[in-house]
Parts: sequence; C-alpha cells; structure tokens
Amino acid sequence: APVLELRGVSKSYTGGVKALDSVDLELGEGEMLGIVGPSGSGKSTLLNVMGTLDRASEGEVLVGGMDVSTFSDRLLSTVRAQAIGFVFQQFHLNDTYNALQNVAVGLQYAKVPRRDRQAIATAALETVRMGHRLDHQPHQLSGGEKQRVAIARALVNKPKYLLADEPTGALDSENGAAVMELFGELNQQGMTVVIITHDLEIADSLPRRVEIRDGVLRAGATRKASAR
Ligand code: ADP
Ligand code: ADP
Repeated sequence: APVLELRGVSKSYTGGVKALDSVDLELGEGEMLGIVGPSGSGKSTLLNVMGTLDRASEGEVLVGGMDVSTFSDRLLSTVRAQAIGFVFQQFHLNDTYNALQNVAVGLQYAKVPRRDRQAIATAALETVRMGHRLDHQPHQLSGGEKQRVAIARALVNKPKYLLADEPTGALDSENGAAVMELFGELNQQGMTVVIITHDLEIADSLPRRVEIRDGVLRAGATRKASAR
C-alpha cells in the first residue's frame, strides 16, 4: 500500500470556501514529492489533511493503508506520533531547551524510556550533522542549523513520511540549498519526503511534483531520473 493516499478529498470551510476539491494523491514509500501552488491555493489545508491535523469534509485519507477518516482525535494523534514527522518554516523549537532536549521531546510522547532518550536523540542529531551542537540553544544556532535540529526532531520517532511546510522559507539561499540537500540525502536513505513550497526553483529540483490551484491538484512534470 502507498504510505499515504488521498481519495476524492474535499475540504470546505464555513463561509463556503472549498479549499480542496476532489483531491486524489498517492505517496509511495521512498518518494520525494514537491507540492507547489500560489498563496491561497490550498497548500496548508492539504498539508493539514496529509498530516491528519485536519479532517477532510469528503473523501478518504489512508495512512499505511488504514482509512483514518473515522478515527477518533485520540487515535489520530497516535497515528501522527508514529507515522508522521513535521518540519515547519519557522522551526518551532523551544528556546529554553538545547538541541538535544528539543529532539528528545518527541520521544517522550512515543513513550521511549527516559534512559534511552539521550542516545536516540543524539543519533538523530548526528544524522543531520548536528552532533557537535547538542548543548547549543536555538539562539546560539544559525537558521540552517535550527532547521537541521527541527529535522532531527521530525526524524527521531522513525516516521513513515516527513511533511515539510516551506522548510526553506526562513533561510537565505545558501542555507536553504543545504537543507534541501539534507532532505535529498534522507530520501536517498529511504525516507519518504513531502515538501510544500511556493518556490518554483526548489520544486523543480525534486523528482516529482504536483501543483495545486484553487484547491485542485494536478500532476506536474516528472523529471527523469538522469536529471536528478
Ligand atoms: P495556502 O496554504 O496555499 O496559502 P490555504 O490552505 O491556507 O492556502 O487556504 C486555501 C483557501 O482556504 C483560501 O481561500 C483560504 O482563505 C481558505 N481558508 C484557509 N483556512 C481557512 C479557515 N480556517 N476558514 C475559512 N477559510 C479558510
Ligand atoms: P518530564 O518530567 O516531563 O518527563 P524531564 O524532566 O524528563 O521531563 O525532561 C525535561 C525536558 O528535557 C523534556 O522536554 C524532555 O523531553 C527533555 N529530556 C528528557 N530526557 C532527556 C535527555 N536524556 N536528554 C535531553 N533531554 C531530555
């Protein structure tokens, strides 16, 4: 089964805006997918539905083959904790924690014993080449470094897929490129990655992309493997 599948998903907000209109989307294991669209096109709504943070008004959302449309909020939060890693534009790190603690937080919810958290969080930070910054607090890190810590936090529970919402939006082009390179490496290692962006250059660098406009999704050009 695909890691994630949307079947005929629509989302209407009170007031009548149809933010998603009959969206079909399959995300295969090991894929790296870009979702592009202008402001107001429905990207955040789509991300929220893909992340089970928000419910579709119509249609089915299948995570690992399970239709989660009918799950309780409590069950959904368990699915999220076990299956999905989130990365945000503004990092959302806790400024009073160091890098290690910021990553370890995610393990608490996954009921990982306290004695194991440090080693697992350290390993996640080493994966994003932040093993030398364990004791640094966010204000002591560059934007690119902060995003790498946030990516380590997203990875620490070994999710089935990563959802990144404008992950380079707060970074200069050099740090943005480095973060995109990191996503590429993680994908090479087998991680399934979704990048939401309005940056066409970034979208263009991804092996597969879809475009959203007024809530309607359509396939973008698929790049040849040789062009990667
Ligand atoms: P994007 O992330 O691409 O900017 P959004 O998903 O945020 O797009 O919004 C898609 C459409 O849905 C827009 O017309 C927006 O105004 C509307 N919308 C988003 N959130 C809400 C909400 N909570 N209530 C009503 N309308 C909303
Ligand atoms: P709690 O009592 O709520 O479990 P802790 O005292 O365990 O909180 O930890 C305080 C914060 O530090 C928590 O956010 C936690 O995620 C984080 N943390 C817990 N264990 C470790 C660890 N071994 N190394 C780094 N940070 C940790």
